[in-house]
Amino acid sequence: MCCDLKRRFLLLYATQKGQAKAIAEEIWRQAGAHGLEADMHCISEMDKYNLETEEDPVVIVISTTGTGDPPDTARKLVKKIQDTTLPPDHFAHLQYGLLGLGDSEYTFFCNGGKTVDRRLQELGAQHFYNTGLADDSVGLELVVDPWIDGLWLALEEAFLLQKKKEGMSSDAVSSSLYAAPQVGHELNSSSEVQNLKLEEERERCSDVLTQKLVDIHLVPSTRDTEPSLVHSVPPVSQSALNIPALPPEYIEVQFQDTHGENPRLSSLISEGTTFEVPVTKAVQLTREDAIKTALLLELDIADTVFDYQPGDAFCVICPNNVNEVEELLHILGLSEKGEYFVCVKVKQGTKKKGAAYPQHIPERSTLKFILTWCLEIRAIPKKAFLRALVECTSDAGEKRRLQELCSRQGASDYTRFIRDSNVCLLDLLQAFPSCKPSLNLLIEHLPKLQARSYSVSSSNLYQPGKLWFVFNIVEFPACPTRRISQKGVCTGWLAELVAPLLHPNKNTLDTKGGSSSSKKISIFARPKNTFHLPADPSVPFMMVGPGTGISPFIGFLQHRQKLREEHTDWEFGETWLFFGCRHQDRDYLFKQLRCFLENGTLTHLKVCFSRDSSTAEVAPPKYVQDVIRLYSKEVARVLLKERGYFYVCGDKKHMADGVSDAVVDILSMETEADKLEAMKILAMLREAKRYLQDVWS
Ligand code: FAD
Repeated sequence: MCCDLKRRFLLLYATQKGQAKAIAEEIWRQAGAHGLEADMHCISEMDKYNLETEEDPVVIVISTTGTGDPPDTARKLVKKIQDTTLPPDHFAHLQYGLLGLGDSEYTFFCNGGKTVDRRLQELGAQHFYNTGLADDSVGLELVVDPWIDGLWLALEEAFLLQKKKEGMSSDAVSSSLYAAPQVGHELNSSSEVQNLKLEEERERCSDVLTQKLVDIHLVPSTRDTEPSLVHSVPPVSQSALNIPALPPEYIEVQFQDTHGENPRLSSLISEGTTFEVPVTKAVQLTREDAIKTALLLELDIADTVFDYQPGDAFCVICPNNVNEVEELLHILGLSEKGEYFVCVKVKQGTKKKGAAYPQHIPERSTLKFILTWCLEIRAIPKKAFLRALVECTSDAGEKRRLQELCSRQGASDYTRFIRDSNVCLLDLLQAFPSCKPSLNLLIEHLPKLQARSYSVSSSNLYQPGKLWFVFNIVEFPACPTRRISQKGVCTGWLAELVAPLLHPNKNTLDTKGGSSSSKKISIFARPKNTFHLPADPSVPFMMVGPGTGISPFIGFLQHRQKLREEHTDWEFGETWLFFGCRHQDRDYLFKQLRCFLENGTLTHLKVCFSRDSSTAEVAPPKYVQDVIRLYSKEVARVLLKERGYFYVCGDKKHMADGVSDAVVDILSMETEADKLEAMKILAMLREAKRYLQDVWS
């Protein structure tokens, strides 16, 4: 009787960077093992499914992008379901389960998923399974894995309910209920979940391996008691392991000749027009003894149609580190093939569902080009990648450790030694020397190398044809899994690129002139931004930008100064800037702020220094959020009475939350409302786009 049960469900994913897709593919794979048919589609493929008539359960995996938006691929569907003329029972026939992906360090956590979930509920759709909200800041898998585990039972129940609705006899229902445990049995036998027993030989091999790694200082000699990337301890080392199914290979790579040219970088970008522009100035804004090094670069955009408003951000196309690419080629045994053009194809007859040509790999380019410009070789390997690497590892001890790291039993080891340690493919290949993956695996598992975003730090009105931006050179010190320190992919590359240009007179920001430079970088605009000056110049606004968070506000102030010069008859609202850094004499990035204050562009400048010692009787505030609290009356007046704007830019982890907490306290105190009410006022201000954040990690 159970064979009569319909065992299909619709599986939709809305992905921005591929994570939702990878999770949907995992669900698809596991569905097969549960004897279910997952009809999987990208949510944008609206010609392939129809929610209006869908009778089977629907599973949606959806990520969040930008400031809480659903991914671009979901835009069409979201627009469609947002139609206010739809009746409240429009989706009454629909049963669904939704898994949202997000990052709680951003304000609108999982908002893409929440938006779709809320709207489906409003239109009468029913949950057959509780919504899961997975948080990338602590590890998506903490929610994703148990959510997928529970999905199968929930689906079984949904199928039964569906049958009941279809008027099936109670006999049939009870016999199919009985069928559920059998599904569990199928999972064990055919899902490739493998029980691997610890073998004696493994101990021997592991010891040899660990000793080798101790020799090269990758693991401490306390190896017997302390787990590390390459070494496990009980219970993991003695457990039978549940490891994920081996992802089917789907890419085929052939080496061709060495003749021809690599594609232009613009062909790698689908988000808009790319501009190759010269760097005309580079200034180090921090002293040599500052903890972080901040650089200001000036780009010459005069000969392009690239346009921006102060507050906009743009993207820089950056390559991977040349030494890391060389080392990768060496480890893969492909050093001789770097300049060869490669032909990438989807493997004929692959078992991978929806296998498609990876859009970020050009049809014809050299191996070096692919590793340099297309693949994020520093990406933290996902468990599916580790699973695939197991098959390319010859040493039994190394193999076992890789199995552990992708297994359920080794989940906390994965989090500790891979995810939280920011281990990348190269670190793994050095730690597991018998692992020799083929190029196709890298193309299958490494994500697209993303362009990095930067906030514009200038005004096109103030200095036409020029664009400034400011960044800290990101530095990662050496650690047990990495013997040498590293710099951020983009900031490390930019720092090296502009080293010959670096202004000898530090902190000189003369906007005139500018040297001609042969150093060029490729940039493109970042769409959709609301972080702009108020349209009405008479409205007051407050800016909070410690560290490099000051960057867009320099653009705001330049713009405002120019407007004041050009429109002497206009009314201009007051402007506040809260700036903070560690030391007044080491990393006060723009001492020129005083000029804005002197010429009246900036009405109030409040600064604080978190690491300078003070001899004052009452210690001065250390952080911008502390300073803001000192001006609570003014904050409340600007925001509530004068309908002003409040801008926050910079570090999202430590600063932005501290600032919004301070604003909530101020609103609560000044309006005599309780904290919950004050939070609602802040939410309203955000909604009205009068409390705006541009934050990054
Ligand atoms: P990456 O190599 O990408 O490393 C960055 C992060 O990856 C680290 O913080 C860490 O979490 C992780 N990581 C990678 N490797 C390791 C490792 N070995 N050890 C430990 N952790 C590791 N930045 C600015 O400085 N100025 C701006 O004006 C600015 N504006 C932005 C505007 C927007 C809209 C956004 C989204 C971001 C902005 N950023 C800005 C951040 C910027 O885009 C980059 O993230 C930053 O410059 C780092 O890039 P990177 O390639 O050098 O670092």
